[in-house]
Amino acid sequence: MAINGSSSSKRKVEAQREGGSSSKKLNVTVGLETLDCTICSAPLRPPIFQCSVGHFICSSCREREDQLDYKCPTCSAKTSFKRCFGMEHVVQSVTVACSNDKYGCAEKFTYYKKEEHEKACPNAPCFCPEPGCEFAGPTKMLLDHFAAQHKCPSTNLPDSGTVSLRLKPGLHVLQCTDTSYFFLLSMATKPFGHAISVVCVQPNVTEFRFACTMSYDCLTTGCCGSTSCHIRSSSLSDGLPTVYDLILPKGKVSDDENDIMLKATIHRQPLGLSRSCFPEMGPTPVRVVSNIIVQVRLQLDLELYGV
Ligand SMILES: [Zn+2]
Ligand SMILES: [Zn+2]
Ligand SMILES: [Zn+2]
Ligand SMILES: [Zn+2]
Repeated sequence: MAINGSSSSKRKVEAQREGGSSSKKLNVTVGLETLDCTICSAPLRPPIFQCSVGHFICSSCREREDQLDYKCPTCSAKTSFKRCFGMEHVVQSVTVACSNDKYGCAEKFTYYKKEEHEKACPNAPCFCPEPGCEFAGPTKMLLDHFAAQHKCPSTNLPDSGTVSLRLKPGLHVLQCTDTSYFFLLSMATKPFGHAISVVCVQPNVTEFRFACTMSYDCLTTGCCGSTSCHIRSSSLSDGLPTVYDLILPKGKVSDDENDIMLKATIHRQPLGLSRSCFPEMGPTPVRVVSNIIVQVRLQLDLELYGV
């Protein structure tokens, strides 16, 4: 059985048999409420329990049976909830498409795994923060959009994780080999000076995975400064960060931003340990150290995908 996942609870009936497969399939319309726990509304997953007249509940709600006074909240009948293997077969055969199918995700899974998948879906959209622009798409498409539509300057982050730039007001992309995320430097001109923020653009917000050390040097005035900060991750659904990581004070640095050099180094967390963004791709480090770094990176990647 396959239904199309959507915010609307009823889907158009297609009722067509799909031939050519050993197990026959039928597209049907299902009221999604019939696949959800009647108490907590979470999608039903095995083991599933039912009251004496067939109201289905999930196993966590069944564990609180005593708090329900052994009554079914739907029909108020005194009952003890019994396992229903038939319904378990049904929910295991209901497959849905990812809501990000319009952004290129072709994954299909059982209905009760939908939320889990979508929380970590690599094709979930990120959003263009330029005023008036409605573009949304996976990070790879957003990168192409920044270049084609907004002519955003972009720099490939080298193995060392360090870049030196003449940062202009606006956005500057720092691109990694892995296109599932990228970094965005933004410089805003404020009455108090130039305000710089850095954000890791990725569809699913995670704990801090990266830190950044930034320093600036004004060629005209000789004024310089530096900062270290954790890098927030964001899909930019709420626009650019409103917190600034580095302020270049007005009056102390030249008004001509061409005179200002910015050096930024992206580190893997934790801050304070000497790690470049791509340590295993850099100059050959001591072997043992290299292994440790790779293990830490794998662990971070697994955390990102919620494994
Ligand atoms: Zn429940
Ligand atoms: Zn009931
Ligand atoms: Zn997906
Ligand atoms: Zn745009």
